[in-house]
Amino acid sequence: MRKQIAAANWKMNLTYQDGEKLLDEILDAGISLAPHQHAIFAVPFPYLIMTRSEVAEEYNFHAAAQNCHHKTAGAYTGEVSVEMLQSIGVHYCVIGHSERREYNAETNAMLAAKVNLCLEYGITPIFCCGEPLDIREAGTQNDFVATQLKESLFHLTAEQLRTIIIAYEPIWAIGTGKTASTEQAQEIHQYLRSVLAGKFGAEVADEVPILYGGSVKAGNAAELFASPDVDGGLVGGASLVAADFVSIIRALK
Ligand code: PEP
Repeated sequence: MRKQIAAANWKMNLTYQDGEKLLDEILDAGISLAPHQHAIFAVPFPYLIMTRSEVAEEYNFHAAAQNCHHKTAGAYTGEVSVEMLQSIGVHYCVIGHSERREYNAETNAMLAAKVNLCLEYGITPIFCCGEPLDIREAGTQNDFVATQLKESLFHLTAEQLRTIIIAYEPIWAIGTGKTASTEQAQEIHQYLRSVLAGKFGAEVADEVPILYGGSVKAGNAAELFASPDVDGGLVGGASLVAADFVSIIRALK
């Protein structure tokens, strides 16, 4: 079965102590994941080593960075390289979250460079795509997200593509309390998979987990994840509350 993933995105929230307490509460819930199920915590950079060691003994629990720089190394004050992440044992990195695309002017070409570096250093990119509200209202969301995939991922080989994770996150649903309906989510996830199949073949496209992100909550996760092409979620707000994120992990297929 394709991997099913609950990924937490803490964004710029929580102190170190609060983060450690939250992780402890989640791990204390005694969740037992199946081999195809994974829980990933995308935490602020200063919490990565703590998170990695907290989850080290847990089956299929992982730490993730929320970003990395698109250059290998050098005079980029304040930035964090993929090699640095690799050197502390981090194996996942969120790439192209809409907040970074918007506030840090990240382009599809820059994200392609980040994806390349991640793959070179053995880090799995969690590649985010998704349309703003005006594009959804104009009904052109499929073309919009297909372009994001084409410009950041279509240079990869099929072997590389099968190792990545995609997160579809409609911007109008992130942090707004508005969730895409299960039908809307399934429809665009199926479309994204067909775009991947067109370029890399159906067998490869079938292996790529496509997560849904945008106001996933304890109360709607099971319904969203039940759709055949929704392979879990990338979760912001609800990942900051232990009981809620535990329920979301338990809602994985
Ligand atoms: C996100 O941060 O990627 C996200 C989907 O946030 P929220 O769950 O709060 O909408």
